[in-house]
Amino acid sequence: MKISVTILMLMVSVSSIGQSLEAIEARKIVFPNVTGYHTIICDLHQHTVFSDGAVWPSVRVMEAQRDGLDAIAVTEHLEYQPHKDDIPHPDRNRAFEIESSMVQAEELIVIPGSEITRSMPPGHANAIFIKDANKLLSDDYMEVYAEAKKQGAFIFWNHPDWTDQAPDGIARLTEIHRDLIDQQMLHGIEVVNMYTFSEEALSICLQENLTILGTSDVHGLIDWEYPVWFGGHRPVTLVFAEKRSMSSIKDALFAGRTAVWFNNTLIGRVEHLKPLLEASVKVTNVAYAGNTNVLEVSFSNVSDANFTMKNTSSYSLQRNSNIFELPAHTETTIRIKTITRLEGALNWKLEVLNTVVKPQTPATIELNLAIP
Ligand SMILES: [Zn+2]
Ligand SMILES: [Zn+2]
Repeated sequence: MKISVTILMLMVSVSSIGQSLEAIEARKIVFPNVTGYHTIICDLHQHTVFSDGAVWPSVRVMEAQRDGLDAIAVTEHLEYQPHKDDIPHPDRNRAFEIESSMVQAEELIVIPGSEITRSMPPGHANAIFIKDANKLLSDDYMEVYAEAKKQGAFIFWNHPDWTDQAPDGIARLTEIHRDLIDQQMLHGIEVVNMYTFSEEALSICLQENLTILGTSDVHGLIDWEYPVWFGGHRPVTLVFAEKRSMSSIKDALFAGRTAVWFNNTLIGRVEHLKPLLEASVKVTNVAYAGNTNVLEVSFSNVSDANFTMKNTSSYSLQRNSNIFELPAHTETTIRIKTITRLEGALNWKLEVLNTVVKPQTPATIELNLAIP
């Protein structure tokens, strides 16, 4: 009796472990590599109790591993230290040291950084790939930017649409920002921060040739701030790097090879989204259904994005309106009424509605479907 109860308890506990492992697997953010580059999944803006966050640095590493990230940056506020009385840390590199000591780079790449925290302009900025955060403490923000540049940092403007600093929520480039760009002390902008997407920031990135970024800027727990258990996810930057290494990520960021994954939307330059879409959505089969004139096109979506497609051809679809879904990690077959049996190939243009390549503009994909 005693034994069987123990066995029963064991079975129950094993099955509940099995379920949670499955759930942990499902929450991982997954995008395929693109031609020539690794797709590196990065969250480059995070806080802990070492500035105004609510968690010990180790939690950031564990969350990142659960979300399947490749890289995170440690970006405590330099000038805002509300927990200083409880956690006095004269060495501003401590949060990075704790996080980076927990993992090997093969598991998770931890990038040292700091958030330069000033009123607008220039507002807040993250300097990442820094060598020593302690040297970034100065009353003069230009000295801080100059020191970060001296350390080889990649510097990006944070939440330019933050209503505490831009009450109308519109990101605007000031003379100070222009000056920083000219002096190569500002290399990118958060087009996405936390729950916001700024079309104006995207415009500025495109006009000024700056790198497009999206970050969680998490202060509490990822699970409390983003609905991960309901298919949601934190915002991340997808970095297209030659290798999965710190230096390759840095090179790619300076070269502007990024896209942002935010709230089931991909945002980025056309030249970076197109290869990502091509790698994510593949046509697996094209054939007429039986003796009909209805063409069946099967898609395999190997990414985490639930794509919303818009048929821009003159043909109508048999089972969908002009707008249809290609769910994440799923095969989907779409039926096109081509009126007559086409021979050779069909050129099919589709808009991918949950992508943004410039304000108000989704990416398009052009499929050249060989008809057997
Ligand atoms: Zn900030
Ligand atoms: Zn922040």
